[in-house]
Amino acid sequence: MTHRAPLALPVAASVLALALAGCSAPAGGADAEAAGIRIVASTNVYGDIAATVAGDAAEVTSIIRDAGQDPHEYEATSRDALALSGADLVIVNGGGYDAFMGTLLDAHGGDPIVLDAVELAGLEGEDGHDHEHDHGESGEHGEGDEHGDHEHDHAHAHDHSVNEHVWYDLHVMEHLAEELAEHLADLDPAHAEQFAANAAAFVDGIGELESAASAIAAAHDGARVAITEPVPVYLLEAAGLENVTPAEFSQAIEEGADAPALVVLDVVELVSGGSVAFLAYNEQTVGPQTDQVLAAAEAAGTPVVSFSELLPEGEHYLDWMAANLAAIEAALA
Ligand SMILES: [Zn+2]
Repeated sequence: MTHRAPLALPVAASVLALALAGCSAPAGGADAEAAGIRIVASTNVYGDIAATVAGDAAEVTSIIRDAGQDPHEYEATSRDALALSGADLVIVNGGGYDAFMGTLLDAHGGDPIVLDAVELAGLEGEDGHDHEHDHGESGEHGEGDEHGDHEHDHAHAHDHSVNEHVWYDLHVMEHLAEELAEHLADLDPAHAEQFAANAAAFVDGIGELESAASAIAAAHDGARVAITEPVPVYLLEAAGLENVTPAEFSQAIEEGADAPALVVLDVVELVSGGSVAFLAYNEQTVGPQTDQVLAAAEAAGTPVVSFSELLPEGEHYLDWMAANLAAIEAALA
């Protein structure tokens, strides 16, 4: 049983204009009905995993899917609000990474299921979200409705005590796929077996990736690596590698800020001196300081392994992570 959100939105005027122009809705009404469940994900990473688990029983919209957009900095548009307005299930990264989703959820007239990956990872801080998964309810908004809890939750700033790039944590994505299968089955019981089978196949794929990571760890345990930004750190750790980059550098890069010049020099020295096996380079979060570190690594012949925030176009999650692990292994060889 699905429940449809009311269409009224605070940004109704601009949304209506877009709807009338017909330039934005990811699918027309008839298609959307045929597709059944509507899922909206903050990035194409989560959109891909959702589509893998849901198969043809859902229509999936990813808000950010262009590698030219930095999710850290993204601000929601009325077009995004329109996409979210009909969602039955919403996937956010959480942890302050995609705070724009909080804005969209606040504007959502209904009460979709919200899956928060940082929360699934058990990393939520004390100022964390409190999404209740009260799916399967009638959608009535009575007193004490949980929806009000969205209001401050997503607005908090980056919590520096956690690395929120949890989609690079294979086990967390396994957990997400299993959660998705359960919630999708609640929304569409007729396809429950399909969701469970798709999730099981995904989990098998995760198992293969974990084996590959363990093999790297066994062969190169404790190898030291440098990063420009924390996006790949969970995967590096799964491969038994030690990130020795000063956090003052990688956190500044993540925030789009400048690291102190002396810290940058430390990192330049780190990637130049043969003491790290490779530089893990986030190709989506770049600036003069990451350019400087990249140039130093290349000049010294230190291998560089590129990572991204978003799923590269045309790829799927499991293949993407397999390619990332292959690139790590090649750099260590
Ligand atoms: Zn990042």
